Amino acid sequence: MLIIPIFIPHAGCPHDCCFCDQKKISGQKNPPDEAEVIKIVESYLDITSNYETVQIAFFGGSFTAIPREMQEKYLKTVAPYIESGAVSSVRLSTRPDCIDDDVLIFLRKYNVRTIELGAQSMDDDVLLASGRGHTAADTVKSSELIRAYGFELGLQTMTGLPGASYMSDIATCKKIIELKPDIVRIYPTVVLRDTFLHKMCENGTYLPPTLEKTVALCAELMLQYRNNNIKVIRMGLQASDGVSMDGEIVAGPYHPAFGQLVKSHIAYNRLVKMALESKDNTESKIFTAYVPKEELSDYIGQKKCNVERLKKQFGYQKVIIKSIN
Ligand code: SF4
Repeated sequence: MLIIPIFIPHAGCPHDCCFCDQKKISGQKNPPDEAEVIKIVESYLDITSNYETVQIAFFGGSFTAIPREMQEKYLKTVAPYIESGAVSSVRLSTRPDCIDDDVLIFLRKYNVRTIELGAQSMDDDVLLASGRGHTAADTVKSSELIRAYGFELGLQTMTGLPGASYMSDIATCKKIIELKPDIVRIYPTVVLRDTFLHKMCENGTYLPPTLEKTVALCAELMLQYRNNNIKVIRMGLQASDGVSMDGEIVAGPYHPAFGQLVKSHIAYNRLVKMALESKDNTESKIFTAYVPKEELSDYIGQKKCNVERLKKQFGYQKVIIKSIN
């Protein structure tokens, strides 16, 4: 699938999410006009035929919270690309308290296929401490409505928010699974410069979780979603999320290849299991593991970190990780 991202910052958003600096998130001050939207879409047209599904995605803010005329303007601007078959449908992100029947009836008219909700947490104390301005009940209600109208449902979640713990983030995952989303995104909280969270860090009321702990937590979340056939389409912020990476992230478990770290962590735990079951290898001090070809790099880990960890943990002289076939 190819996603053509168009960032629509929510200028004048009345909410105060502690982690958000909308201008920094979107990397731009003003919402794009029609000409800019067309320019972005056209820049992808050379490659759209290589993909079975192409979606234009309005990200970056709360699409259904911006004035209806603006929503209509954007949706009408991209409609010709859907009519011509170059693009399959539209995807957008919004807040759980900005969805109702009227909104969904409107979006259905304009080829919107996927609606992603910024659920962030299913713990009301965490939502309150993070200044989200909505409750978990809003997420439940809007998720059910989105599914009832036949849209594809995406839920965006955050780990390590103020007031959150390992157990509350796991509990959020379980509640998200109950909502049966088609897709999930997991964003570990990072601290952006000049946000309220930045101030909380400076005055000691917020301590960001370490990268190591966050990777272990997200590995557990990933497995729980996977076991329930829910696709995790993103773990960790990336440049394509529109965040300016040059010095704007001042604290928190940010890593440019966060998703890879999580997959590698899961693979390491599997290697440990294989090693524990492989008595012969322990005696010979040589351990050989056969792993799926497409996951070979996850098993080896960045800079061979899994190989080195296994050697250290089990006293192996040599660790060989080979792909099956
Ligand atoms: S994250 Fe919160 S503060 Fe930022 S634009 Fe969305 S609703 Fe508004």
